[in-house]
Amino acid sequence: MQTARQWLAAAVALALSPWASGAEKTAPASLTDALAVIQSHRFIDLTHSFAPGIPHWKGAPNETVKTLYTVDKDGFRINEYCHIGQWGTHVDPPAHFHTGLHTVDQIDPKEMLMPLVVIDVHEKVAKNPDYVLSLDDIRSWEQRHGRIPRGAFVAMRTDWSKRWPDDAALANKDAAGVFHYPGWSKPVLKLLYEDRGITASGHETTDTDPGAATTHDDYSLESYILGTNHYQIELLANLDQVPESGGIIWITFPKVENGSGFPARVIAVVP
Ligand SMILES: [Zn+2]
Repeated sequence: MQTARQWLAAAVALALSPWASGAEKTAPASLTDALAVIQSHRFIDLTHSFAPGIPHWKGAPNETVKTLYTVDKDGFRINEYCHIGQWGTHVDPPAHFHTGLHTVDQIDPKEMLMPLVVIDVHEKVAKNPDYVLSLDDIRSWEQRHGRIPRGAFVAMRTDWSKRWPDDAALANKDAAGVFHYPGWSKPVLKLLYEDRGITASGHETTDTDPGAATTHDDYSLESYILGTNHYQIELLANLDQVPESGGIIWITFPKVENGSGFPARVIAVVP
């Protein structure tokens, strides 16, 4: 049972974690106890449902769904789904940009369950859609919650996901054809991946790089992350329901052989 196995993994992580807070600092006596702790918390789905017509990268074809068998006619229902790997809320493995680095199936399951750090800049983004994350944003988080833990998943909260499923609102293109949406910055990514030792990161927009850069097909920040042989998640949802610290994130996706990306299911468990 995959689900049971994932729960055991979650339970072990919580039991052993130095970032658990309060009463959870004492390791539970058993995995069953650890599971009970996890199940007593709130679950937040950080995933958009995907379907034909959802917002997607300008170079990608739309999804098609073909019904092959129906319950009425055949006694069971089977659909054929045709979509690119980078569809909806999705995982970008290192091999998305770099030949020879990890593909979807090579991502370690231990790197799919992590402490969740949320850098909340949604108010700054509301004032400036071109906002990029600054070192001050990270310093300010660490002043409140302590050093970003090694092995964390760092999510950039912009509330941009509230524009879903309006493709034009997500792209936010002006009359001159320039996209205006927020993004990461190189100093922040270097600090997180090279110094803090985080495992992965994610955001609500279609891209790691801000719209001002992707307008000119500059995807250098995404290339940087994936070049460190770490993966990222794009088009996250519901980060406004997750605290800045104290949560865990659980990321799953199908094990596509030699896969260059795929829709993901992303769930936060929060205090
Ligand atoms: Zn992507």
